Amino acid sequence: MRISENFKALTPNYLFAEVAARVAAFKARFPEKEVISLGIGDVTLPLAEPVVRALKSAADEMGTKSGFRGYGPEQGYDFLREAIAGYYAGKGAALDKEEIFVSDGAKSDLGNLLDIFPRGITALIPDPVYPAYVDANLISGNKIVYAKALPENGFLPLPEKSVKADVIYICSPNNPTGAAYDEERLQMWVDHALKTGALIIYDAAYERFIKDKSLPTTIYSLRGAEYCAIEVCSLSKTAGFTGLRCGWTVVPKELQSGSVNAAWLRRQCVKFNGVPYVVQRAAQAVFSAEGLRAVEENIAYYGENARLIASALKEKGIRFFGGENSPYIWMECGMSSWEFFDKLLTCAQVVGTPGAGFGEAGEGYFRLTAFNSRENTTVAAERIKKL
Ligand code: PLP
Repeated sequence: MRISENFKALTPNYLFAEVAARVAAFKARFPEKEVISLGIGDVTLPLAEPVVRALKSAADEMGTKSGFRGYGPEQGYDFLREAIAGYYAGKGAALDKEEIFVSDGAKSDLGNLLDIFPRGITALIPDPVYPAYVDANLISGNKIVYAKALPENGFLPLPEKSVKADVIYICSPNNPTGAAYDEERLQMWVDHALKTGALIIYDAAYERFIKDKSLPTTIYSLRGAEYCAIEVCSLSKTAGFTGLRCGWTVVPKELQSGSVNAAWLRRQCVKFNGVPYVVQRAAQAVFSAEGLRAVEENIAYYGENARLIASALKEKGIRFFGGENSPYIWMECGMSSWEFFDKLLTCAQVVGTPGAGFGEAGEGYFRLTAFNSRENTTVAAERIKKL
């Protein structure tokens, strides 16, 4: 038995291992120095109280004869699908609960969706971006073309007539650049997809970080998106579910007259047995008024961290992007991104993530995140100012 040839196309995933190795080497040489990481892509604040309450109460229920649940519906319990539909209604997007598929987070579905399409298709993927899109497409044997995100386009690439693709990935707000599409530019992608027959896979994992009320937080607020787009979303970064695991995928019934929705349901029923009941109850609590308030507080906390980092960079006259509507700050480093990594580590004992790890166009850039504690972020910002 041989492993699929497609795996040979994957490049070794060395980014975070290399970061850890360089930090470990530095600490071994300078054990007295305290290193602060602004490279964290994971949340650090604990789950909100209403979420924990729902989790405990669901666990208690599971320990009773009447409240015990075994296999649940693969696509998620109605109570959560309805809560998510209600959340979208609040954004002005009318969704049927049958269009919402509860998932164990965005990452799985961003790749799994490829199961329902032919192999060897062409995927258009932004560069730089969250690396899982590229790898999932390589595993599926797909061809990849890149949409370069550069300062010239505000890190928001737009459709080009000459570039043909079957699937178009869009991540807004983007990881790592923090750039978020406005309505006009996102509508250009929707119109392009409608014209060319391409499917958009829209990753809205950071939608709740959008502060600017004029920016779309779902692709379904755009004209015609229900005919060309699947949206993948997650409670990981917004509600601290990176460890608990829950998200959702929206597959509108308008997509190819319901056949995409039906195919995805079929795929899920074959390969997925649903998200744990207790986790779905915790997720439902996020959408309560109390839950949403708690989420807002956490996001405001990270937002203030982003502001602290941004003001340090401003003071130093360093050009950067993001941070306003995203937990990520994307800064120019004026040298190769690994050179800058070493410089920041040795001179300020601050760790970030080299932009080159997110794609070729990330070279020369560096990602800082707002996910550390206020105390650590404040110290790191001061150190950057003193550089
Ligand atoms: N999409 C983007 C853009 C991300 O940055 C991440 C995680 O960092 C994910 C999806 C994965 O999220 P999840 O924890 O929901 O699988």
